[in-house]
Amino acid sequence: DGDEAPVSVPQQGEPGLRLLRRVGVVDPGSLDAYRAAGGYAALRNALVLGPAGVIREVTESGLMGRGGAAFPTGRKWDATARQAERTRYLVCNADESEPGTFKDRVLIEGDPFALVEAMTIAAFAIGAQKGYVYLRGEYPRALKVLRNAIEVARERGFLGENIMGRQGFSFDIEIRRGAGAYICGEETAIFNSIEGFRGEPRTKPPFPVEKGLFGKPTVVNNVETLVNIPLILTEGCEAYRRIGTERSAGPKLFCLSGNIRRPGVYEVPFGTTLGELLELAGGVPEGRELRAILLGGAAGGFVRPDETGLPLTMEDARAAGTTLGSGVVLALDDQADLGGFLLRIASFFRDESCGQCVPCRIGTVRQEEALHRIVGGRRLGTGGDDLALLREVGQVMRDSSICGLGQTAWNAIESAIDRLGALEERS
Ligand code: NAD
Ligand code: SF4
Repeated sequence: DGDEAPVSVPQQGEPGLRLLRRVGVVDPGSLDAYRAAGGYAALRNALVLGPAGVIREVTESGLMGRGGAAFPTGRKWDATARQAERTRYLVCNADESEPGTFKDRVLIEGDPFALVEAMTIAAFAIGAQKGYVYLRGEYPRALKVLRNAIEVARERGFLGENIMGRQGFSFDIEIRRGAGAYICGEETAIFNSIEGFRGEPRTKPPFPVEKGLFGKPTVVNNVETLVNIPLILTEGCEAYRRIGTERSAGPKLFCLSGNIRRPGVYEVPFGTTLGELLELAGGVPEGRELRAILLGGAAGGFVRPDETGLPLTMEDARAAGTTLGSGVVLALDDQADLGGFLLRIASFFRDESCGQCVPCRIGTVRQEEALHRIVGGRRLGTGGDDLALLREVGQVMRDSSICGLGQTAWNAIESAIDRLGALEERS
């Protein structure tokens, strides 16, 4: 998957960067360099605030999950901290498998101690003694860098017993690697995978905050979500809230790819328009016209070139019929093969369905078959209508699949048909 190819971070070291400020600037292998660049000031502040104070700061910051679903982080932490069960777990979801998503890899490879510190703060707040990083198997460089950071932090008293001299505060981190299955990034499939079972999602509720890893209350947070935590605890929740918009607070990483001049990870405040972001990345190659942008990944939706004034906030994306998801911004120009692109999405979902529930197991196959016939210019031959079949199958998957994979497997294809008029000429 090209893991050894470096991912560019075009704005590194520039003023205004928060999440990426150390990436490419500070040695990711050196704890001293991390501390000299402000590292561990946030954990110190957290120890002064106490667990309830930390949860209050995170809640008031308005931080929402950056893995894709945008659930309020403070609510998750608070719900876990309130459980009567004292054994609790923290899981960092670093499985990052959404096509076109590579921000967490940049954060781990470039600033691993920030993730270790953030996890330590989260564990302190929710009362967890053990944390897991569930790392995408195809990220060998991230594994090496993160493993080193955890070992160094442990040797220097930032993990283990009585962290930073705080009596009774113990926490440690274990890395577990995925093995290439997209579905293992689904939070309950992660639990099964860590516990040694098949990586299949469990039904929710119960939510992990109540019954998660090994049946215990568990917080699952994405890498980028966690890396916001030290920022909140050093800048304060009010200053943090002033970044972005009223309902979408903070900085956000976007992954620009496709037909774009300078692909890479870009950090901007929420509320930046899609057009401004595309401009930062140089726009489409010279001589080409923008045809569409896939926003939010395969489970997201398409935006047309006349809609690039869209402010990148959770609420504006929702109102436009899509999502920011995990930060995918994939540009397609006028030479892109849209039909082929949709087929690739359909075959991806067919491949990655875990097969546990019928609507998704069968639906993703039927979806790909119908799309193949349309793109290949072949009607059903029985007088049937493949577009109507696609819609029917898509709706059934959305309504009755167990997890997000099946529920969203039709999103991008539906959006291409309804918003871009794709497939019309072929059906
Ligand atoms: P979800 O809406 O079911 O849950 C989001 C989070 O909120 C989960 O942690 C869930 O446990 C928690 N939650 C929801 N309701 C709750 C409640 N009432 N009480 C306590 N906790 C609650 O979404 P999901 O299926 O976990 O994630 C779907 C998203 O994942 C999609 O938006 C997709 O874009 C994204 N995704 C990202 C990647 C990636 O590589 N980053 C890969 C695949 C999918
Ligand atoms: Fe598995 Fe698909 Fe069902 Fe999710 S929706 S549990 S991926 S079969």
